[in-house]
Amino acid sequence: MTVTVAAQPQPSEAALAGRLPAYVYDLAGLDAHAGAVRAALGDVELYYAVKANPDPELMRTLSPYVDGFEVASGGELAHVREHFPRTPIALGGPGKTDAELFGDVTRLHVESTGELRRLLASGRSADVLLRVNLDIPLEGASLAMGGGATPFGMDPAGIAECVALLEEQDAVRLRGIHAHLASGLDAPRMLELAAAVLDYARTLGVTEINLGGGMAVSYADPEARFDWKTYGDGLRRLRRPGETLRVEPGRSLTVYCGRYVTRVIDVKRVHGELFAVVAGGTHHLRTPATKGHDQPVVMTEPGEPITIVGQLCTPKDVLARRVPISLKPGDTVEFTMAGAYAWNISHHDFLMHPKPSFHYLNR
Ligand SMILES: *Cc1c(COP(=O)(O)O)cnc(C)c1O
Repeated sequence: MTVTVAAQPQPSEAALAGRLPAYVYDLAGLDAHAGAVRAALGDVELYYAVKANPDPELMRTLSPYVDGFEVASGGELAHVREHFPRTPIALGGPGKTDAELFGDVTRLHVESTGELRRLLASGRSADVLLRVNLDIPLEGASLAMGGGATPFGMDPAGIAECVALLEEQDAVRLRGIHAHLASGLDAPRMLELAAAVLDYARTLGVTEINLGGGMAVSYADPEARFDWKTYGDGLRRLRRPGETLRVEPGRSLTVYCGRYVTRVIDVKRVHGELFAVVAGGTHHLRTPATKGHDQPVVMTEPGEPITIVGQLCTPKDVLARRVPISLKPGDTVEFTMAGAYAWNISHHDFLMHPKPSFHYLNR
């Protein structure tokens, strides 16, 4: 199903003229959204998962509202350090190189007993959270990083081994537990997960618990938002005195602030079906191809359902199917929900088409 949405703030025609395809970021909208999330969470700590969108303008907008940034590579670590030298950083991710494992970060999320052994052998000091993969059901999740055999984190036996390794030394300090088990769950389901993770953390006697990201985002219903108020209230109810809770969302923070704007090059009918070929495509906005959805389109003139495709020579280059919109060559088409896992996950160099331009509104 394709979703159409109402028009949103635009750069002037003049600013975009000749510069399509373009990414347009609504920084004022992001500021308001981040402020609301921050208020709903109260003193639950908020880190932004940089891999969702590392654009420095977006991170600058988020920075007053976050307690830190979560990075998943040495590249992201260097990027955050360059732009935000004083902001706390948590580094996680499987397959850490020595440079990543021994990097100077506020919190290191240890993913395996092997990583911990390498860290201990190095003699370096670090503040670590152990990433746990609990075997709990994750129905309804769009992606599962836990709840069974996956390469992420450790099962409770692995955690127990780490806890034993950490005894009788003080260079590596066990601060707590990290769990990023699933993405695409709503607030009540996320609270159930949080309760299970907290129960587990208490068996270890640790008081710092990072509950991960993955707050639900619906491309089929752009107006449906994750209920941060319910989640924040629920987390504060679950927390016991002395415990520090932290979350690290990515997509749910930045997805709504980005749009991908392009123009129609050709309109054609093939075997009865109407197609609009636009400049750019999934090499700029890979999200609909990876998630298997139709990217939401801003509605202009209603018309016969038309499938909007890009310029690549592959049948996978589809941005949205059968959109009830009237399009002719030269028209502008605008896709929403392109602020996270969009430009930065796309295969820009495939076919060597030009890159999009970038615009930032309401700075
Ligand atoms: C990707 C990731 C996140 C962010 O997930 P979203 O679905 O974007 O909220 C948080 N923590 C870890 C460990 C991740 O890998």
